[in-house]
Amino acid sequence: MEGFLESVRYYVTRAVEQLDLGDRMEHELLTPRREIRFECTLPLDNGERATYVGYRTQHDDARGPMKGGIRFNPAVNPDEVGALASLMTWKTAVADLPYGGAKGGIDCDPRNLSAQELQRLTRIWTDQLHDVIGPNRDIPAPDLGTNAQTMAWVVDQYAKYHGWSPAVTTGKPLEIGGSPGRDAATGRGIVEVMRLALADRQQDMAGTGVVVQGFGNVGSWTARLAAIAGAKVVAVSDITGAIRDPDGLDIPHVFEHVRATGSLGGYPNGESFAGSEITAEPCDILVPAAIEGVLTSANAADVQAAVVIEGANGPTTPEADEILRERGITVVPDIFANGGGVTVSYFEWVQNVQRYSWTEDRVNRELQERMTAGYHRLTSEAKAAGSSDLRAAAFRLAVGRVAAATRLRS
Ligand code: NAD
Repeated sequence: MEGFLESVRYYVTRAVEQLDLGDRMEHELLTPRREIRFECTLPLDNGERATYVGYRTQHDDARGPMKGGIRFNPAVNPDEVGALASLMTWKTAVADLPYGGAKGGIDCDPRNLSAQELQRLTRIWTDQLHDVIGPNRDIPAPDLGTNAQTMAWVVDQYAKYHGWSPAVTTGKPLEIGGSPGRDAATGRGIVEVMRLALADRQQDMAGTGVVVQGFGNVGSWTARLAAIAGAKVVAVSDITGAIRDPDGLDIPHVFEHVRATGSLGGYPNGESFAGSEITAEPCDILVPAAIEGVLTSANAADVQAAVVIEGANGPTTPEADEILRERGITVVPDIFANGGGVTVSYFEWVQNVQRYSWTEDRVNRELQERMTAGYHRLTSEAKAAGSSDLRAAAFRLAVGRVAAATRLRS
C-alpha cells in the first residue's frame, strides 16, 4: 500500500466490512465534507515574498464540530491533510468526544521563518478560513511545527471578524483561555496507555525500557513523564539524530539541552547514532512520536519492543502493522493512544464555552479516567472479536459510532 491516505481508507473500509455497513455508508464515510486549498503569499522580513499552499480538510461532522490540528511542515500535501483529517474523525469517535474530524496546514518550513513571518503567515491562513472555522464548526489545535503561540494568533485574527471567541482553537496559552495540562496531555495519555499495557502483561513502569522517536511536544512529554513514573528511557531521537544510554538517559537534562539549543544534536552525555535506526533499539516499549510512515515492511522485522504505542499519527504502514502482529508485538493505535491531546482540547473548549476554568489536577484526573475507560473498552472489543488487533477494534468502535450518528441525522 503506497500512501498515507490509502492506508487510512483501508482501515475504514475494513471496519465497514466487519460491521456490515454497506457500500453507501462506506462512500459517505470516506468522502470529506469539504477540502480547501489556497495560496498563502507571505511578505518576508527582507522585503521579498514567498508563496506557500494552505490547506484545511473538514472530513466529517456527524458527531459534532470538526476538530484537528494545523501543521506547518514542507511535506504538507492534500493526501496527508486528507488522511490526518479522516484520522481525527475516528480519533474523536474512539474517545467518544462530541466532535468530528478536520486537519490543515501550510507547506512551509517554520524553522526558516522568523517569528514575525510565522505570525503573518498564520494570520493569512486564518483570513482564508475564518468563515468555515469556529467554536461550533471546526476547531483547530497545534500539530507538527505549530504551538500555543500559533493558536493565539489564530484567536486574535478570528476575533477581528467574529468578536472574542477563544473556543475557536484549543492548545492556546493559559493567559487567553488555554487549559492547564493541555501542553503535556498527549504525552500524559501515552504514558497512561503505557501503564495500562504493562499492567496487562503483569509488569509495571519501574525499570521498563522505553524508546521515543521525536522529541517535540509529544515525544518530550512522553519521555519526561515516563521517566518520572520510573521507566528507563534508553534512547530518544529528533530530526537531527538519536542518542542512547542503555542505563537510561537523564531526560530532564536532555530536555534542558533541547530547550537551550533547539535540538538533540551535540548532547554531551550518551552515545549518538543515526535517527533512522531508533526503531530497532532494544527496549520494552517503542513510542514513535515524530511523523507518519516510519514503521514499514522494510524495518518492522527489526523492532525489538514488546509493545508499540503510536504517539505520532500514522507512524505504521498496514504492511508493518501486519508484520508486528505476526511477531506478537502489541500495537496500540494512534487513534486511541495519542487521543490524550484532543481529550484535553475538549476540556479546554468546554471551559471556554462555560467561561470557567478547571484546576490542573481535575484536568489530569479526568484525562486519566477517560484513557483508562477507553483502554478497557478497546481491549474488550478486541477480545470479543477473538483478536489481539487493537487497531481493527479501534476502527470498528469509531466507524460504528460515526455511522450511527450519520444514520440518525439523515
Ligand atoms: P513537534 O513539531 O512538537 O515535534 C516533532 C518532533 O519530531 C521534533 O522533535 C522533530 O525534530 C521530530 N522529527 C520531525 N521529523 C522527523 C524525522 N524525519 N525523523 C525523526 N524525528 C523527526 O510535533 P508534535 O506536536 O510533537 O507532533 C508529533 C506527532 O504527534 C505528529 O504526528 C502529530 O500529528 C502527532 N500528534 C500530536 C499531538 C499534539 O498534541 N501535539 C496530538 C496527537 C498527535
